[in-house]
Amino acid sequence: MSQVTGYAAQNAKTELTPFKFQRRQLRPGDVEIDILFCGVCHSDLHTARDEWHGTTFPVVPGHEILGKVVRTGANVNPFKEGDIVAVGCMVDSCAKCESCKENLEQYCDEGPTFTYNGKDRQDHSETFGGYSTQIVVDQKFVLTVPKEFKENDYPGVAPLLCAGITTYSPLKHWKVGKGSVVGVIGLGGLGHMAIKIAHAMGAYVVLFTSSPSKVEDGKKLGADEVIVTKNSDEIKNQTSRFDLILNTVSASHNLDPYLNLLKRDGTMCLVGAPAEPHPSPSVPLLIFKRRQIGGTLIGGIKETQEMLNFCAQNHITSDIELIPIQKINEAYERMLKSDVKYRFVIDIGSLKENGIGQDV
Ligand SMILES: [Zn+2]
Ligand SMILES: [Zn+2]
Repeated sequence: MSQVTGYAAQNAKTELTPFKFQRRQLRPGDVEIDILFCGVCHSDLHTARDEWHGTTFPVVPGHEILGKVVRTGANVNPFKEGDIVAVGCMVDSCAKCESCKENLEQYCDEGPTFTYNGKDRQDHSETFGGYSTQIVVDQKFVLTVPKEFKENDYPGVAPLLCAGITTYSPLKHWKVGKGSVVGVIGLGGLGHMAIKIAHAMGAYVVLFTSSPSKVEDGKKLGADEVIVTKNSDEIKNQTSRFDLILNTVSASHNLDPYLNLLKRDGTMCLVGAPAEPHPSPSVPLLIFKRRQIGGTLIGGIKETQEMLNFCAQNHITSDIELIPIQKINEAYERMLKSDVKYRFVIDIGSLKENGIGQDV
C-alpha cells in the first residue's frame, strides 16, 4: 500500500482540504499512475456538496485524470513505466452483463464502479479520485494518451476524459457527419467540447446561448452560427432544421422551443442532469414529426479511446485554466458563476511541491 495525498471534502458543508490516504497494493492487473493533471467537473462539486444525496465522506473528487505510469502488476500487458495514460469516470464494471460485453461499461447492469464515491468490487473500499498524487487502476480502465499529444497539450487533454467523451458519444451514436446539422445548447465545459468535436466530424454546428457575449467565442470554437436564445424570433425561424440537438444545460428549462427545431426523426439528446426535472415537453411536438428525446452517459472504455485518438488526429483539446490545488475551493465558486473558459484543470504538481506529497 502506498500513502498518497489528496484534497477531500470531509462533509457537505466544508471546503476541500488536504487529506492523506492509502492506495491499494498492486493487483496483478493493476497500473499505478503518478497523476500530472486532473480536470474539474461539475459532478465533482455536486458530489463534494452531496447535492445528489449519495456521497460517502470523506470524498476525493476528480475523474478527468492524466498521468504517468510508475509501476505495473505482473499481468499488465499494454502499459509500461513511463507511459502517459488517462483515467476517466469509471474504474471497473461487472464484465459479464450485456452492456459490458458490448463495451458499454457505463450502462453496466450492476452499475459501473465510479472513479470516486464508488466501492471497489473486490475489497469494498471507497474509491478516491484524481485530486491526488497517485491512483491505482485496473488496466482495462486505463486509456492511452496518443503520441500526437505533446507535453504542453496534457492539461487540455485531461477534460476529454469526461467533457470530451460525454459529447463525443452521442454525436457518434446519432451518426453525425458531413451534411448533419447539429445544435448545441449551452457554452460551458460540455458545450465547448461539443462544438469542437461536431465541427471536426464535418457537421454544420449551431450554438444556442443566452449570452450575447458568447457569440464571438462560439464562432472561434467552430460554430458556423450562434443564436442568442433571448431573441425568440431568431429561434422560430429555425423550425425543422436540426438532425440532432445536444442539450448540455443542467438547469431545468422548457424544452419545447428547441424540440420544434428538430427535423422529422430528429433527436434532442440531454447530457446535463438537472436537479429539478425539466417541465414536461408538449407531446404533439414529438408525435407530429416522430421526434425523440434521449439521454446518454459518458461512453464506454473502447469508445473513450476512440475519442482520444479522434481528438489527437484533429488537434482537439479542451480550453482550460490551469490552477494549483490550493485554489480548488475558489474554482468551485467561480464554476458556479460560469466564470471559466471552459474548464479548470488542477496542476497536481502543486500538491507534491508543498511538502505534503506522497511518501511511499
Ligand atoms: Zn465529469
Ligand atoms: Zn456489467
